Amino acid sequence: MTPDLAAVHFDGRTVAIRLDHGRIMAIDPAPGPATAVILPLPAEPHVHLDKTYTAHRCRATKPGLFGAIEAMAADKANWSEDDLHRRIARGLSGAYTNGVAAMRSHIDWTEPGVPLAWAVLGEAAQDWRHRISVQRAALAPIDLLGDADHGPSIAATVAKDGGVLGAFIYRNEGLATKLDRVFALAVRHGLALDFHVDEGLEPEAQGFDAIVALTAKHSLGGRVLCGHACSLSIRPDTEVARVVDAAARAGVALTVMPSTNLYLQDMAPCRTPRLRGLAPMHELRNAGVEVLLGTDNVRDPFYPYGVYDPVDTLRLGAVSAHLDPAVWHDAITTTPARVMGFDLPKIAVGQPANFMLIEGADWADAISNPRAGRHIFRAGKTQTQGAVAA
Ligand SMILES: [Zn+2]
Repeated sequence: MTPDLAAVHFDGRTVAIRLDHGRIMAIDPAPGPATAVILPLPAEPHVHLDKTYTAHRCRATKPGLFGAIEAMAADKANWSEDDLHRRIARGLSGAYTNGVAAMRSHIDWTEPGVPLAWAVLGEAAQDWRHRISVQRAALAPIDLLGDADHGPSIAATVAKDGGVLGAFIYRNEGLATKLDRVFALAVRHGLALDFHVDEGLEPEAQGFDAIVALTAKHSLGGRVLCGHACSLSIRPDTEVARVVDAAARAGVALTVMPSTNLYLQDMAPCRTPRLRGLAPMHELRNAGVEVLLGTDNVRDPFYPYGVYDPVDTLRLGAVSAHLDPAVWHDAITTTPARVMGFDLPKIAVGQPANFMLIEGADWADAISNPRAGRHIFRAGKTQTQGAVAA
């Protein structure tokens, strides 16, 4: 079907959009109802291209996050250059088909030396640079990155390669000292920070609080992104309100990943989960925190299902966290683009015609049907999908 730009749902109204030479030439009011919603091409803030598509060969034997970490560690013997190239290319291809314009992928960095996957994703990012802008984020245990001997060389490599510095934090000993060193490295090298933090349901997991405090101390607002913060979902309301307010003042952003949180949190054999581990997204956004939605793991022990499809992630957020897609679609588009520092085309006259149409009269209609037709425009050229690609 040829995409119809005569009646498009845009910012709550129906408009007609005219394109010429790959650009948006006019956006004019049009009579409703609309036949499709329009959104900028998604920016994906949080995936793991080094781990992806391994689920068939390494299923976790213990429940929850740490069971998945164990299974993944055992699979690393298979991570040859060829294996990584193949799986990373498959992930990027799926994301491109689903309209993704920019992406940040974490890469496990568990030894002092540079991991092979870091180099392989660097090459893939070059190969794909005209289709998807790819950022690499180091994902090191805080005990390694916060180590006075090893942290500086990791940070120097990440800076040289134009990456983002990141660490995994969960109830670590001596956290304040280690985190302070990581922040000092970020300041020294001008690096952005991205943490996996408090991905569990113990109220003592308060790494997010420490990151917020250090962001304020080092004046790094707008440069620090956290992922998960699941423990905020079970901490007392008064504490949460205080942390949320501090995060807004410090300028710390948060990525929530509904698929992995719903899958890994409160997981026990033969028992239905009660606690869902989703950070308080509404409260954070209402306080002024930038809240992003991330796809996180795809087809690996952390989440054996999924596709590289931010619209699917938004749909899951709509169900699991009551996110109105008409309000929250910026959590998969402009907000992650801004937080990651990508200057992507907007839907405005004079801008490149890079956007997505999803068939439907409005957002509720469009998001209701996972098989709704999609039309992805890049420089005015369309690629049409009937269904979500793997
Ligand atoms: Zn992650």
